[in-house]
Amino acid sequence: MDYYFKKIDYHDRESLGKIIRVIENVLSENTDGVKKTRALAAELSEMIEALSPFIQQHTDAVCPDCRKVCCINKHSYYEHEDIIYIFALGEKILPYKTRVDDMEPCGFLGNAGCTISRSLRPYRCNWFFCTPLLEQIKNISAPNYRNFIGSSEQITRKRENLLEEFKECAKKTYTK
Ligand code: SF4
Ligand code: SF4
Repeated sequence: MDYYFKKIDYHDRESLGKIIRVIENVLSENTDGVKKTRALAAELSEMIEALSPFIQQHTDAVCPDCRKVCCINKHSYYEHEDIIYIFALGEKILPYKTRVDDMEPCGFLGNAGCTISRSLRPYRCNWFFCTPLLEQIKNISAPNYRNFIGSSEQITRKRENLLEEFKECAKKTYTK
């Protein structure tokens, strides 16, 4: 259970491996809680992908001209919560390089932007909106903007539900 609460040292594969083993162990249980966790992860993934074209349309408009691209290695590491969600989805986290310069361009950055599908990116990547991007988004109509904010809030709540459910499962697994 220790590793559930431990902060990840992104550059230490051993600590990352221990956290992943705890998460896999919890998710290997055939309980209603784990089934619910997995269902929430699937719903969350769908919600993120549904919002993706909207966000992409706006990043396409501002990011190609950006002079200070935010996609650097230090933003590409998966947080503990990201790993829970991705494994609950039945996916794996993509192996990032350790011992790289945190300030160098992200290893997942390709010529046309991020090479990871939006629903599998670290959470922080999807919800970072720099000022030019926000200004760009604010050009849309008020109802569309409200829809965007509403969808973002629903995604946040779904993720919180998923993490709460997982935490309950973890407690049961490690207090047997
Ligand atoms: S999101 Fe903002 S900071 Fe990041 S690449 Fe696009 S314009 Fe640049
Ligand atoms: S959005 Fe993709 S390319 Fe950008 S920092 Fe995140 S993982 Fe790296």
